[in-house]
Amino acid sequence: MSLWDARQTAMLKAMGLRVWAPSPPAPLDAEIDVATMQAPEPAPQPAPRRAAPVSVAEVLPQVAPQPAPREDADGRSATIAAMDWPALRESVAACRACGLCESRKNTVFGVGNEQAHWMIVGEAPGENEDLQGEPFVGQAGKLLDNMLLALGLSRGEGPPEQQVYIANTLKCRPPRNRNPEPDELARCEPYLDRQIALVKPRVILAMGRFAVQSLLRSSEPIGRLRGRVHQYQGVPLVVTYHPAYLLRNLPDKARAWEDLCLAREAMASR
Ligand code: SF4
Repeated sequence: MSLWDARQTAMLKAMGLRVWAPSPPAPLDAEIDVATMQAPEPAPQPAPRRAAPVSVAEVLPQVAPQPAPREDADGRSATIAAMDWPALRESVAACRACGLCESRKNTVFGVGNEQAHWMIVGEAPGENEDLQGEPFVGQAGKLLDNMLLALGLSRGEGPPEQQVYIANTLKCRPPRNRNPEPDELARCEPYLDRQIALVKPRVILAMGRFAVQSLLRSSEPIGRLRGRVHQYQGVPLVVTYHPAYLLRNLPDKARAWEDLCLAREAMASR
């Protein structure tokens, strides 16, 4: 039994996309338009992980080495690394560790199931995120939700295997949406590290250049890092495009869909 119905399979193959075909107990029968990532109805319950995992080596040909940890000269990272969820939330809300605290309206901590099997890491809050204090809202958030829905995932309620936890690399919005400075990324990084340690995801999707820079210490373009599974603290990590980028570059939606399928393969192999 294929995960995709005949129409989806034909569409994916016509686009030159690899079709992952495990044997889940329940097919994903929502019709997904890969070009728009629109799913007309909520997806059914996703298939649970298979009892007999596939060989990662068969589908994940390259696994990048794990990056070295940063230095922690002032002990701040170690302090944050010992925090529980309430302490971490409080620390972020009051944080003035970099200059972005001066212009933010709200910190953007994260959202989703704190035991989620999937974790999405974005870049920096935009205007809407800054106003609402939640990551991935507006059109980019809608696209992300549709992409997740295509895999039977959501940021709402439900069992951990169907849920995502979403966090940004930076918790405060850079003024006028400028690129984050290296020092800002470094000062904020311990918060994301701790969120990942607390969630203990089975797979991480790193969306966008600055998420990749922070988690993999790599300045390589997304296009050269996607298509293989990396590692972050022993957790499979798949690189893909940020939804805000996809809104401006429609042809890359098909590549993003491939990345989601790769993440699902990585999840299924654990
Ligand atoms: S961006 Fe991060 S390090 Fe900078 S003030 Fe906000 S929470 Fe603190």
